[in-house]
Amino acid sequence: MKEISCKLLVVGAGPGGYVCAIRAGQLGIDTVIVEAKKPGGTCLTIGCIPSKALIHAAEEFEAVRLAAEGKSAVGITLAAPAIDLAKTVAWKDRIVGRLTNGVAGLLKKANVKSVHGFAKFRDGKTVEVETETGTQVIRAETIVIATGSVPVELPLIPFGGPVISSTEALSLKSVPESLAVVGAGYIGLELGIAFAKLGAKVTVVEALDRILPLYDAELTKPVGKRLAALGIEVLLGAKAQGLEPKTDQLIVETADVTTRRIMAEQILVAVGRKPAVDGWGLEELDLDRAGRFIRIDDQCRTSMRGIFAIGDVTGEPMLAHRAMAQGEMVAEIVAGHKRSWDKRCIPAVCFTDPEIVSAGLTPDEAKAGGREVKIGLFPFAANGRAMTKHGEDGFVRVVARADNHLVLGIQAVGQGVSELSAAFGLAIEMGARLEDVAGTIHSHPTQGEAFQEAALKALGQALHI
Ligand code: FAD
Ligand code: NAD
Repeated sequence: MKEISCKLLVVGAGPGGYVCAIRAGQLGIDTVIVEAKKPGGTCLTIGCIPSKALIHAAEEFEAVRLAAEGKSAVGITLAAPAIDLAKTVAWKDRIVGRLTNGVAGLLKKANVKSVHGFAKFRDGKTVEVETETGTQVIRAETIVIATGSVPVELPLIPFGGPVISSTEALSLKSVPESLAVVGAGYIGLELGIAFAKLGAKVTVVEALDRILPLYDAELTKPVGKRLAALGIEVLLGAKAQGLEPKTDQLIVETADVTTRRIMAEQILVAVGRKPAVDGWGLEELDLDRAGRFIRIDDQCRTSMRGIFAIGDVTGEPMLAHRAMAQGEMVAEIVAGHKRSWDKRCIPAVCFTDPEIVSAGLTPDEAKAGGREVKIGLFPFAANGRAMTKHGEDGFVRVVARADNHLVLGIQAVGQGVSELSAAFGLAIEMGARLEDVAGTIHSHPTQGEAFQEAALKALGQALHI
């Protein structure tokens, strides 16, 4: 049995853990990181990056398929296209490989020692890792838990056979003829839309009465329209009840309380993710929980001295950029810097077609508590750049305080709006007022002009509408 000691031990090398370890290493802290699988975690290997690669491939395929069907508005014609999904997946895997190797290289450059294996806690200062070369004991002054999350399994529709999670959906060998998707949240709709574009007949089953319940109905309306145009059937207020024993048909209780059976080659269950808290010895530690998650304070400290927790294991929103920001902050706290969570917003992007962005407060959230607000909405139908990209459906909406015009929230739905999220986050983080956004020269022709125009609209000064 080998033993090492260090100042900081990070368990899990997802976006939370690897950013924490890199920053700690840069700050001269003697750091060890343990990862059971590959550096980069869910995000780089089976989450954000692979899903966006598949979404991009699906967009490209849809464009050529429409051209082959004589439906290209820009006049492209070609013969019947085909997609070799195995090659698409191999391309996606090469991107993942480049990124995971990149993270391993960055850890090395920051002098972080990487240990490969599954870490189990002995006590609050010691973990044991089964590595390829035997058991490694690691003692640390400070430990950061960054074990992430795993998909939620429905007991009556367990993973296996035709029932898959996003992990398997991102590595299919061929496009299924039919795909049933349980859950119209982030994963269900991002991947459901991609597979519909690749040619699958997609049916979405959502328990609540609308899609993407995390976002307001005004924002999700253009996505609903697009789902219909892609021929995706959406059953709202419908609950997946189980599988027909011999045929594996998905049994669904629909909103009008009738039972429907859906025959599908694959069934993607995407009903949320839960913190990865099993199997690594949480029971050895005296950590308070917030529901299923590990409870943390505004410095990501847990209830046990010397133990921090970051990322998905600590709760919503389960987003990579939140995990990274927490990781960076914790490394600096361990180095003795005065830091605490002081972010004004964590922007969220849904990579559906069209895409959705939300930063800060929505109109309803801003109005809660009786606050007076000004709202400006500018449609992409009046934006030249959006027209040149067939992206007229959608808008940018700005929410500000009525008294001093401080921007409280910015939302957008439209083609490619994910790239506007940085501008939205920056405006809120810098405490911009409507006049600051309206007075900033925005390049023409860009979709960003809709942001400026939405601010002008809130001030009653819109120019192009
Ligand atoms: P993770 O990335 O889950 O990493 C945790 C790591 O810890 C894993 O590598 C795991 O192997 C390791 N580990 C766990 N236990 C142990 C142990 N005991 N010992 C050693 N290692 C251990 N977020 C976005 O912001 N944008 C997106 O576009 C986006 N798309 C997504 C698409 C999909 C399909 C999925 C599933 C998720 C997506 N997410 C997205 C969410 C994002 O992946 C997570 O929020 C992010 O990965 C969380 O980072 P983390 O560091 O907390 O945990
Ligand atoms: P989600 O919470 O986004 O959506 C789950 C959906 O399933 C909800 O609409 C819920 O009402 C529905 N549902 C729950 N139980 C059901 C049932 N029995 N039958 C039918 N519908 C049911 O969860 P997800 O899509 O699995 O994604 C998990 C998490 O991963 C997200 O919350 C997010 O944090 C992260 N993620 C982020 C992105 C992104 O940032 N673009 C992309 C993918 C995943």
